[in-house]
Amino acid sequence: EAQEKVHYCKKCYNFTDKELCDICSDKTRDESILCVVEDTKDLEAIENTCEFKGMYHVLQGVISPLNGIGPEEIRISELIERLKASKVKEVIMATNPTVEGEATSMYISKLIRNPEIKVTRLAYGVPVGASLEYADEVTLSRALIGRNEIA
Ligand code: ZN
Repeated sequence: EAQEKVHYCKKCYNFTDKELCDICSDKTRDESILCVVEDTKDLEAIENTCEFKGMYHVLQGVISPLNGIGPEEIRISELIERLKASKVKEVIMATNPTVEGEATSMYISKLIRNPEIKVTRLAYGVPVGASLEYADEVTLSRALIGRNEIA
């Protein structure tokens, strides 16, 4: 029975048993900021931080030519359509730091091409509790690029 009821939210493509998911129907959330994630698990991970009060768009996958997944197989055109008639001022690309995730992020940011919309990428850093000497070069270089001012 549960399987019949669960479907995609018609706005963000998160799983829900209603027409709009709980996040999309929450009037207290900030509609000017949209976080793009690969799947529902990533959305939940960001929700668990309690740091983000904006909206989401769930791609339900990443572009992966090796697996035969092109841009039309995931929810990219729905995202672009959604941005056209929205108050969104910032899109946060929160795809995973994998080759596919990076390529999907680049592809989408080029498609958006709207001077009114700022496109940002999650900063990746050195894992908390880890030592710099054990971080790989990619992780360390991203941590340098995404450094924050502390004083
Ligand atoms: Zn939704």
